[in-house]
Amino acid sequence: CAGHVNWDVTLRVDHLPAADGEASITEQQQSGGGSASNVACALAALDVPTALLGSVGTDENGHLARRALSEAGVDCAPLVTVEGETAVKYLVVDTDGELMVLGNDGANESFDATDLSDDALAAADHLHLTSQDPETAASLAARASEAGLSVSFDPGRRIHARNYAETLSLADLVFLNKREATTAIEEHFGPIEDLARVIAIKHGGDGAEVLTPDGEYANHDGFPVDAVDTTGAGDAFAGGFIASMLDDETPTRPDYERALAVANACGALAASECGARTDLSWERVESTLADR
Ligand code: ADP
Repeated sequence: CAGHVNWDVTLRVDHLPAADGEASITEQQQSGGGSASNVACALAALDVPTALLGSVGTDENGHLARRALSEAGVDCAPLVTVEGETAVKYLVVDTDGELMVLGNDGANESFDATDLSDDALAAADHLHLTSQDPETAASLAARASEAGLSVSFDPGRRIHARNYAETLSLADLVFLNKREATTAIEEHFGPIEDLARVIAIKHGGDGAEVLTPDGEYANHDGFPVDAVDTTGAGDAFAGGFIASMLDDETPTRPDYERALAVANACGALAASECGARTDLSWERVESTLADR
């Protein structure tokens, strides 16, 4: 996985503050975050050997972020420490699970992946990219494709502000939520059906669907849960989807239904817990699938 490494501070409040209003903090929790890091943790929890490319700062939060990743079983060897502060995000969540994100990009701004050797890259089967500087994303996607890896990309909400055309054209699999799919992609690249990629579109509690360039279609309902915080639900979804695809023993006809079911189960587990990371395991995923 390549992209952001954050240190998250989740503030649970009684309601999201209006512009001039105040909200009382009912609970505060700190944990690792950052889209690429969350996907890496989800993959590691689902028994996929996973390394993370990204950067942390020289501050205490950098140590905390690195330690949390290592404890989650993620290989941090390619993680670079740069002078300065680790990205800190404040996730403000109200009683309906609604979210407001504040914070800085810190060391994530310095991530450039030039230190990654071709040999290290070629040792992997798959590269998952998340929101980051478009040149770095495109260069990593090109290097990975060249080395024979499959590539997935989740541009996240920054698709509105950044030009990811090159990375989108290089990725085999693209993750988008409904908003990203209907607005940004169509604004930049024309109808979504014309994209030459497998696209997984996430629909929150309603589940998700897959569109393929061959006109294949699959969908799967979401799993009903009491959503308390949907931070990281999309990342858990991506982790579940990729783990399922890598585990697929019928590569001539990928089992998208199974991948969507696993991904929705991971997303639902993430939505039902506070914080960006989720205590995932195949046991929990299988038990969610069996409960349907
Ligand atoms: P993103 O977090 O990337 O914006 P979504 O909000 O669509 O994407 O959530 C990603 C996935 O997480 C969904 O496709 C679904 O599987 C799961 N999910 C999200 N919210 C809920 C919810 N309220 N109930 C059950 N599953 C959810």
